[in-house]
Amino acid sequence: MHMTRRDFIQAAAIVAGSTVLPPAALAGRLTLENILKFKEKGNLTIVHTTDTHAQLVPIYYREPSTNIGVGKNRAQPPHLTGRGFLTHYGIKPGSPEAFAYSSVDFQTLAREYGKMGGFAHIATLLQQIRAEREGKVLYIDSGDTLHGSAVSLWTRGQDMVRVLNQLSCDAMTGHWEFTYGEERLLELIGQMQFPFVAQNVHDTDWEDPIFEPYTIKTVNGVSVALIGQAFPYTPIANPRRFIPNWSFGIKEENMQNIVDQVRAKKVDLVVVISHNGMDVDKKMAARVRGIDLIFGGHTHDAVPRPVQVEKTLIIGSGCYGKFLSRLDLDIKGKSIVDFSFKLIPVLSRVIPTPISSREGIWCGRPALIFQSGFRKRQAAEFII
Ligand SMILES: [Zn+2]
Repeated sequence: MHMTRRDFIQAAAIVAGSTVLPPAALAGRLTLENILKFKEKGNLTIVHTTDTHAQLVPIYYREPSTNIGVGKNRAQPPHLTGRGFLTHYGIKPGSPEAFAYSSVDFQTLAREYGKMGGFAHIATLLQQIRAEREGKVLYIDSGDTLHGSAVSLWTRGQDMVRVLNQLSCDAMTGHWEFTYGEERLLELIGQMQFPFVAQNVHDTDWEDPIFEPYTIKTVNGVSVALIGQAFPYTPIANPRRFIPNWSFGIKEENMQNIVDQVRAKKVDLVVVISHNGMDVDKKMAARVRGIDLIFGGHTHDAVPRPVQVEKTLIIGSGCYGKFLSRLDLDIKGKSIVDFSFKLIPVLSRVIPTPISSREGIWCGRPALIFQSGFRKRQAAEFII
């Protein structure tokens, strides 16, 4: 690869910037206030998580250093990584954001900034945002949430349903959720205090919808349609035997019908909670008319600014609980006139856990189980 003088100076600056700072200087920048710093805006806030893969406790997770974009997507978000990513978004090397969003100098920065994620810490952030924006907040999740940890497997998704209920989730869709099988997933949905939405899953015999395709929530006088888009390729990416009676696919025409249907109901905002993956979301935004926002999942993209395609904004909130997206919207006359966005890094070292959660399921209990060496069956009983 050819390196220009500018590239070299930039690379040298990045190395210097991330390694010469003393630990105290790095730690000093990290406060809850800084993490939550946000330019409040408008009449609605949407908070989003995705692809947490049931990670209840904080983890170390390095963002990928390679992400191949094909055709028009080459070198476009979300296919930017490493130094190119930092330059594109104007992020200072060595900063908490550089640690959270990129792979650059991960090992050094991980020692300073520590583990990320953990639902107890997410709970604190949600609590703070809800306190700041009282009565204006919707919290949605794009799936790959009920599956992915030992505890979720032992409880067959039960632990995460409890967590989402405790966090007052407003709606979700799914992918790995389907690997518990049709019966168990419907059982789990029965325990959810919020809807599981998916417009693109139907009965293979009669084409009847299996789930509610959408739900409408009115928050602070703003009516919001939340349409679900489950992972379209579930039967080929995961064993078909888990979902023998259900059909999947992008089902673009049905999506257009649903969007038209909710538009006819005069909603103020049309949101898709999607598990398409960002490139498919970008294409869908270009082909389906009338979607204001897509909150995506599946491809684990941590994207610091929404990607705009035609009139649709697409949000990618990373994975494993590392991030919580906050989008403040100013909605007037059924359109978005302004917005503020932040992909909030869940830096567990500086985000305290709510006192009640220390007794609760999402933080204390899994830790306790692992420390005390409980056997699997006991652990599952203990949690439920
Ligand atoms: Zn997925």
